[in-house]
Amino acid sequence: MLFNNDVESRQKILVVDDDPANLHLLDSALGDLAQVLCSAGGADALEQAETELPDIILLDIEMPEMDGFEICRRLKNNPKTCNISIIFVTAHSESTFEYKSLEYGGIDFIGKPVDIALCRLRVKNHLMLKRHEAALIETQKDMQALVNQIPAYISYWSEDLNNLFNNDYEGKWLNLPHRATISKHASKILPSNLYLAVLDCLELDQLNHEFEIKLPDNGHQISDAQVHLTIAKQDNKFAGLLLTMTNISSIKQAKKQLYTENNRLKIMLNSIGDAVIATDELARVTFMNPIAERLTGWVNHDAMGLHIDEVMNLCDASTKYKGQNPVTIALKEQRTVGMALNCQLTSQDGTVYRVEDSASPIKDDEGYITGAIIVFHDCSESVAMAVKMSHLANHDQLTDLPNRILLHDRVSHACNVAKANNKLVALLMIDIDHFKFLNDSLGHALGDLMIKLVAKRLQSLIDPNATLARIGGDEFVLLLPNINSASQIDTIANDIVQSTQTPFRIEGKEHSLSVSIGISIFPTDAIRCEEMMTHADAAMYRAKDLGRARFCYFSQELESQLLKRSLLITNLKTAINTEAIEVYYQPKLDLKSMKIVGAEALARLSTPTGEVISPLDFIPLAEETGLIHDLGKIILVKSCAVAKKWSDEGHDLRIAVNIAAKQFSNPNFCETVTDALELTGLRSKYLELEVTESALMHDFDEALTILNTLSSIGLTIAIDDFGTGYSSLSYLKYFPVNTLKIDQSFVKDMFVDEQSLDIVKAVVNLAKSLKLTLVAEGIETLQQLDQLKTLVCEQGQGYLFSKPLPLEEFNLLLQKQ
Ligand code: C2E
Ligand code: MG
Ligand code: MG
Repeated sequence: MLFNNDVESRQKILVVDDDPANLHLLDSALGDLAQVLCSAGGADALEQAETELPDIILLDIEMPEMDGFEICRRLKNNPKTCNISIIFVTAHSESTFEYKSLEYGGIDFIGKPVDIALCRLRVKNHLMLKRHEAALIETQKDMQALVNQIPAYISYWSEDLNNLFNNDYEGKWLNLPHRATISKHASKILPSNLYLAVLDCLELDQLNHEFEIKLPDNGHQISDAQVHLTIAKQDNKFAGLLLTMTNISSIKQAKKQLYTENNRLKIMLNSIGDAVIATDELARVTFMNPIAERLTGWVNHDAMGLHIDEVMNLCDASTKYKGQNPVTIALKEQRTVGMALNCQLTSQDGTVYRVEDSASPIKDDEGYITGAIIVFHDCSESVAMAVKMSHLANHDQLTDLPNRILLHDRVSHACNVAKANNKLVALLMIDIDHFKFLNDSLGHALGDLMIKLVAKRLQSLIDPNATLARIGGDEFVLLLPNINSASQIDTIANDIVQSTQTPFRIEGKEHSLSVSIGISIFPTDAIRCEEMMTHADAAMYRAKDLGRARFCYFSQELESQLLKRSLLITNLKTAINTEAIEVYYQPKLDLKSMKIVGAEALARLSTPTGEVISPLDFIPLAEETGLIHDLGKIILVKSCAVAKKWSDEGHDLRIAVNIAAKQFSNPNFCETVTDALELTGLRSKYLELEVTESALMHDFDEALTILNTLSSIGLTIAIDDFGTGYSSLSYLKYFPVNTLKIDQSFVKDMFVDEQSLDIVKAVVNLAKSLKLTLVAEGIETLQQLDQLKTLVCEQGQGYLFSKPLPLEEFNLLLQKQ
């Protein structure tokens, strides 16, 4: 830029000469090199020099008004013009003139007459030098501006530590005017701590050093500096130093603030009551506060870098299932996550805490996840308290039994379950008879003890599925869920009434009491809890009215049924104990010869009032209560004894005894049979056992083993009520069956519907092909008899021939034959 024509054309030459011819000559000779200005000398020359500021002045020495030397002296004394290059022009060729010219500050000397070519060359060179000088000045200015702008202190120091250069033009760094620093020794201008630090570094003999230093406050807000020293060496000797400083005051300040803030946060986190764990973005622990250390059992520095799952051993308190740590979820789903309810933390030493709270992801200023924080606290106490409160709210304080609230809940639940499973639920309201009297005579403390003892005894009677609750002073409620039949309730109620009558021992003395019980049943008499309670209550009052120490059902119909049932059981038991069970005999006839070929033994039970009870009523009850085994044994023995007598009298009669399904479950059943034969001396071929299809199917393997054993000793097996029980006939292959007794319902309906007749026909054919004896049961009419004869049914049994008869009557019949 500085060297283009524009600038060149702006260069000026002032020619000063009193001779106009000379002025003209030089003007035309130099006009193409620069702009030429002319002056005749004196004041005009000085004025033009000051206003035009030419690059070069060609100055004549001999002039009349003021000689060239004087003009030169004045120009050099004027600071505005002192830098203009002056070339003297003179006719004097002596060297003294030349010396003098240079002494006055001229830069060159041209002799007259002027050699134009030489003059042009000299002027041209000087113009070029001027341009270089201008460019240098410009560059220096730029450099200066640049160095000024660097926000750092830059300085060079000589080998004896004198300042050679520094850019602290405004004295911001050392608080000294710039000129007062140049060439000065470091000890004079550097703050003493910096100077000493520099000396230390020099002593260490390393080329580079970096350190921070505090500068004295000088009002320029540079209090902290980062110092960098570069040591120059020459021939392995210290040759100079570059010292730079940058202002780190604000960084220091920010660091300090950050540190303070960090400290404040740390103190805060350490002093809050919650546990806090921070992790990085991979869920690895970066911080734990003391509470977190206590609850996890980990020490901060041991836990650092471990995965959160390793440090926090969490699981569900009830299922012990290890779920995901909320931190993992918070990091994955980038949201705040609450800890699962019911959460349990096991510390390193095995202590178990119930904890609750949440985890949140931490994001940087650009929204990227950098980690997570989990905050939690030990809520073991509050959970324990809640459990205790809930227990207190649901239990009776004296007996610790469920109270009315919990009972209500259990009743509703039991009813729902029973409804779904088609079962019954019973509610027994149990009240201690005359408790007020007991309480008053014993005193309240012993009265309370009595309540506790009653509760304990009641509890010993019930199974774990039942709920015993205390709902008032001397009132208990027993909830029996999942009941199959009302008779089960009867047994339990009876147990309670009986067992509470055993005296209670308090302080060495025996106290007797009794209870009255009211029973209501879902869904028979109530479908809602409140209704069940009221009904049970009403029934309980009825029990009191009827004389206490008993139980009543809300449903009187049910009650009378159950009463009947329990009377029946009593009767049955007595009959068994006294062997008062009677056996009737119904003849079996050969339909061809119409002769009695056998008899079926049928059990009969009479009440003390003389009423005869059907086996259809008492056999199932005997099965239910287990009395069937004793009952069956009595009938077997009686029947065998009778049959033995018949055979002794010369009758060839086989006795058929019915066996109930439940009898097969008696492991001694075979023995019972053989014992009966042995005891009576009856030959086994005279005994037939009648079993129903369903009895065989009840426990197939068991029945098979028993029947095989019995068959092997020579007695025969009949399938009773054939056709009603089991649809598949394949079982006939496996069992040692000798006789089929076609069910009386088919015989009865033979002329009512064709199907029954078809079934009878089919069974006749089946018996024939399997070579089994066929007996038709329930023959009541001649028409039925004729039909069966036509179909060639072997044997028959029915009212047409005879009803089941007491032994004497049967014997008469036999004699008649
Ligand atoms: P079951 O073994 O099928 O006995 C035949 C039943 O039909 C008897 O009733 C008998 O009286 C009745 N019956 C006989 N002929 C006729 C007739 O022509 N018309 C009508 N309508 N009925 C007739 P019972 O004696 O009342 O016995 C009923 C059931 O009780 C028996 O059916 C048998 O399953 C069972 N049972 C009777 N005694 C015993 C026993 O000692 N032990 C066992 N386990 N069960 C017995
Ligand atoms: Mg029978
Ligand atoms: Mg039968």
